Amino acid sequence: MDFKCIQDCSKCCIEREYYPTTKFGKVGVLILPDEKEEIESLAKKLRLDIIILPRIGVSYEKSVGPTKILAYQLMGRESNGNTCPFLDTESEQRSPHGGYKCRIYENRPLACRAYPVIESSPVTLDQKCKFCETCANTATNLNQELESLTKIKIKMETNASFIWRYATGIGEKSDTDKIHTGWILET
Ligand code: SF4
Ligand code: SF4
Repeated sequence: MDFKCIQDCSKCCIEREYYPTTKFGKVGVLILPDEKEEIESLAKKLRLDIIILPRIGVSYEKSVGPTKILAYQLMGRESNGNTCPFLDTESEQRSPHGGYKCRIYENRPLACRAYPVIESSPVTLDQKCKFCETCANTATNLNQELESLTKIKIKMETNASFIWRYATGIGEKSDTDKIHTGWILET
């Protein structure tokens, strides 16, 4: 079955998850270093306050912390980390499938263009996507999404020895005790 957004759905632009665990806080939309400036400038033009935190860093030594950032993340506008700041939930405008409109759709980050594909071989779809909940990774017509994911992977390639993940410190109030903030070395 061809991938097609569910009528009126905006779930992936609203709901953010703890990744890889609650300790790391809610993740934002992945932003590559060469996308960051444009996203910041689009937000400025639209007079939107946005928060971009680091996401993945690398280093050749363990003791120094990350020396290069491979990816950033655009955080949600709600205090619990949800809802992309570019999602227009106020106006009456809707996307072609009836969901809330993305204010920067033509310039949206590669991560948004890749979704719901989260792995390319074998093709794996995010089961939290409303369409994918039921399609069991059998959706077709995902060429553009796969292309975008490949571009992200190429841009994030590294031969550095140590990978660091940034804990955002953001999440539900009830999880405050479990959530950390700052760089954590991947094991
Ligand atoms: S940038 Fe647009 S497509 Fe991407 S999460 Fe935000 S609203 Fe959704
Ligand atoms: S969750 Fe899936 S179906 Fe819903 S808007 Fe996002 S990609 Fe489309």
